[in-house]
Amino acid sequence: MKYVPEDTDFRSFIEELKKSSQIEFSEDLIDIISESGDMAGSPYAHWRWKKKFIADVVIWPEKEEEVVEIVKLANRFSVPITPRGAGTCYFGSNNPTFGGIILDLKRMTNYNVNKDENKVITQTGISFQTLNNNLIEDSFELGGYPSSALASTIGGWVGTGGSHGIGTYHYGSFVDQILDMKVVNPMGDIQIVDSKKDIDKFFGTCGIFGIITEISLKIYPCRKKKSLFIGYNKLNDLISMIQKIKQMDNLYLISFTDKNYEMRNLNISNYNYYFFIVLIEGNETFSHSKEQIEKISKKYSGNLLSNEISEQKWKAYLKQETKIKRDTPVLTLQSIKTNLENCKDLIKNFEALAEKRILNHCIYGSINHDLSVRLLLITPTDNKKIYHFLASKALSHRIVKNIYKTEKGEVYSYGLQNSIYLDKFESDKVEKWRKLKSDVDPNFIFNPLKLVETKTSYRRINTIFEMNLFWRKIAAKIKTAKRVNFPKDKSLSKKPEQTTLGKNLKSD
Ligand SMILES: Cc1cc2nc3c(=O)[nH]c(=O)nc-3n(C[C@H](O)[C@H](O)[C@H](O)COP(=O)(O)OP(=O)(O)OC[C@H]3O[C@@H](n4cnc5c(N)ncnc54)[C@H](O)[C@@H]3O)c2cc1C
Repeated sequence: MKYVPEDTDFRSFIEELKKSSQIEFSEDLIDIISESGDMAGSPYAHWRWKKKFIADVVIWPEKEEEVVEIVKLANRFSVPITPRGAGTCYFGSNNPTFGGIILDLKRMTNYNVNKDENKVITQTGISFQTLNNNLIEDSFELGGYPSSALASTIGGWVGTGGSHGIGTYHYGSFVDQILDMKVVNPMGDIQIVDSKKDIDKFFGTCGIFGIITEISLKIYPCRKKKSLFIGYNKLNDLISMIQKIKQMDNLYLISFTDKNYEMRNLNISNYNYYFFIVLIEGNETFSHSKEQIEKISKKYSGNLLSNEISEQKWKAYLKQETKIKRDTPVLTLQSIKTNLENCKDLIKNFEALAEKRILNHCIYGSINHDLSVRLLLITPTDNKKIYHFLASKALSHRIVKNIYKTEKGEVYSYGLQNSIYLDKFESDKVEKWRKLKSDVDPNFIFNPLKLVETKTSYRRINTIFEMNLFWRKIAAKIKTAKRVNFPKDKSLSKKPEQTTLGKNLKSD
């Protein structure tokens, strides 16, 4: 392996840190374990199987100067640094693959609002929720934020290259909100990054070229929102509906889910697919927009659900993806960047494959104004049921492979897990990053084994997963394959309509 640190002298680094620095750090097992994983279950499974990917120390800087100090020291002793926000990325982009330092930036939370210039200048460890709530008190709001906003940090969404989230339909991708940034590069120098071309280098590249310490973001006068929720039985109808309303100028958020997803979230299951819309105050009144949407949705056999349910969905929006995680031991999913047109086939293939292989599944898609989609293909599983777990991961792999082969999209964000696809299918991008990495980080200490290098080969993963899918096919044929019955599935599959929400739905 070429792009990884060598001759790391961790003990000397720690001794020097103790001698020369006031910055808080911990080598306690509880800290290094809790800061070495992310939201998905796979890294947890990795630890169990390989006992790898655990940091040696967690450091909590509060100021940019402290980040500089740590980076310079780490460089001296070739100690790898993995920057970390809230750890909500799904694909192991903050797993410390060579031990070393987890640089937890969550104490870097200072910010300043400039109302005259409609911008906020903030340190990057602050969570979206905290920053946005504070802005709202000043009658401003951010242009967009991920649905992990309760925890996820500003720096983390730059690291994962967030383009689709709440508000991005109206205001555009997160990269369009960035005015300029301050970055500590791998040599420990501070850089001001203010051109689109340079900002792009750090957007979606997992901090391998620099640690973003401060960022200046556009802000907007806060406006009222109104949510609508529509049920469909056919995916084609839902997609036609989205295409029909896309020109309305007061759409703030549009997303869709399926029955399996909403059973876990709102306890509803009367329709096969659900379409969620949030309108933003504008030239049209909410009631006029609602009438228009209702009229069009009827044409496509959609049923507008009660206000109560749509408000409940909106209120719980920031918790919905985590709900699935809480109900199931392992949240195996793949996140795809595609467009609405391709979604139809992708979802149908995914559902057909999951059904044939007797695997649990659900979907969530969030859409931007250009009809690009962040599509989550979720296969809830349990790593104790090893065949189900492996087949679930294999299913995600098969889908990604097909997506690249048919040019229907690409992986939405990368990390330890998804870097193999980059190497195989997006080699031009990787070559460009490799060159840049060698130039800016000659000791390869920033977030190793992400994007530019992988530990395992695509061929190996492909062989293992395809074999798995083959065995699963046979198991399904001879009826030994079983879905995992999570506690909630049992109660829901018996009487879905008995819930209060179910009753409301029926009367709609
Ligand atoms: C429930 C849930 C909902 C989600 N919803 C969305 C969504 O709507 N849209 C979407 O795009 N994603 C979504 N995600 C994915 C993820 O939450 C986002 O990508 C999020 O912004 C990551 O932020 P974080 O603070 O958790 O970063 P982390 O997971 O801690 O880090 C992400 C990457 O950025 C790097 N990094 C962190 N901070 C910095 C920094 N200051 N400088 C340089 N690199 C840094 C890390 O090393 C890592 O590579 C969701 C995830 C969950 C669990």
